[in-house]
Amino acid sequence: MNFLEQNLSLEKCPALVLNADYRPLSYYPLSLWSWQDSVKSVFLDRVNIVSNYDRIIRSPSFNMKLPSVIALKSFIKPQSNPSFTRFNVFLRDRFSCQYCGSSEELTFDHLLPRSKGGKTNWDNVVTACSTCNVKKGGRLLKHSEMMLNQEPYQPTTEDLHKNGKHFPPNFLHKSWMDYLYWDVELEA
Ligand SMILES: [Zn+2]
Repeated sequence: MNFLEQNLSLEKCPALVLNADYRPLSYYPLSLWSWQDSVKSVFLDRVNIVSNYDRIIRSPSFNMKLPSVIALKSFIKPQSNPSFTRFNVFLRDRFSCQYCGSSEELTFDHLLPRSKGGKTNWDNVVTACSTCNVKKGGRLLKHSEMMLNQEPYQPTTEDLHKNGKHFPPNFLHKSWMDYLYWDVELEA
């Protein structure tokens, strides 16, 4: 038995939740369930256990290894168009200013300023640091002498998943790696 894990607080042993196709339900935030929810779903027969912690939980009626990775038995269809939220715009733009690349003091810039009828949507809003935001001010992009890193676009859930992999959470159990990064492109 791994004594380190046996001594871990149960609160620090969430389970990674996979869809029925063995891909994570969500990357960002990573789909994690508390140990209580994962054990409950095992008893309700809603999930398959894919991997375990070296941590045994005991009650008067049963002993079981705590699941570290579980997979849903029925497939949940991912939302194809992610919601337009502040967070998802940041994620599409990988938390970097689309003008200078900074990741400090991020806010949003309307390419076509709101004062000129610019809409607040995927095609007109980009992540910008407050310095660039102030610098561009109410001008049109073409009058600002500023360059966009990438044209804004409506991302798919897949796009956001891909970007989410660049921002792993602080804690990753070793048993999760196979399911999180197996399809990441290898960098030459
Ligand atoms: Zn900037």
